[in-house]
Amino acid sequence: MHLLYVEDEAKIANFVCAGLKEQGFMVDYCDNGDEGYYRAVDNAYDVIVLDIMLPGKDGLAILKSLRQAGRNVPVILLTARNELDDRIEGLNLGADDYLAKPFFVEELVARIHAVVRRVSGEGQNLLCVGPIKLDRITHKVTCNQQTVELTTREFNLLEYLMRSPGRVFTRTQILEHIWGYDFNPNTNLVDVCIQRIRKKLDSFDGASSIESVRGVGYRFYKPET
Ligand code: CA
Repeated sequence: MHLLYVEDEAKIANFVCAGLKEQGFMVDYCDNGDEGYYRAVDNAYDVIVLDIMLPGKDGLAILKSLRQAGRNVPVILLTARNELDDRIEGLNLGADDYLAKPFFVEELVARIHAVVRRVSGEGQNLLCVGPIKLDRITHKVTCNQQTVELTTREFNLLEYLMRSPGRVFTRTQILEHIWGYDFNPNTNLVDVCIQRIRKKLDSFDGASSIESVRGVGYRFYKPET
C-alpha cells in the first residue's frame, strides 16, 4: 500500500516512517505542507496521513484543496491533544479519521487499514488473478488455495504487478516503485526478487503467472475473459 505522510516534527516522523515501513507500507514522506500538497495531487496514494500544524500549507488547507479538486483519497489527520476544533473542522472538510498525538504506530496502522477498507470496499483489497489471490489488508497470498509465504518486498512486487494484469512494467519502474530511487538502475535486484517469487509460486503450480517480456521487463499474466 502506497502512503503519503506529511509531518514536520522529525523525531515523530522518523519513528512513524520506520514503523509503517516495517508493516510493509511504501511511505513517501515530506516535512512541509506545500510539498505535501503537490505530492498528494501528483500521485495516486492509497491513503494520506496529514499532520495539521505544518510549515507552508497546513493539514486542513491541504485536505480542503484535495476535496475541492474532487480527490477522494482517504485522509487521516494527526492532531495535538487540544485541537478539538481542528478535528471537527477536519471531519467536516472530509477527513476519514483522526488520531490525537501521542499515538502508537500500531494504532495508526489499524486506522489506515480501517479507512482503506471502508473507502475501497473489500473487493479492491482482494486481488484475484488466475490461481493467485492476494489480500492487501492481511498480506496473505494463496496460489491454488495454498498459502504462499512471501517477504514484504516480494509481496509488494507481486501486488504491484497484480494490480494491472497484462501491463508490462520496466525494471526501472519496478525498482523505483518497490525499492525507491536510491538504487543503481543496473542492479539485478528486480530479477532476483522475481525469480524468488516464481520459485515460491512454482511449488503450487503458479510460476507462469509472472511473464518476462524480453528486453523490457515483466508483467502479470492476464487470463482470457
Ligand atoms: Ca506539526
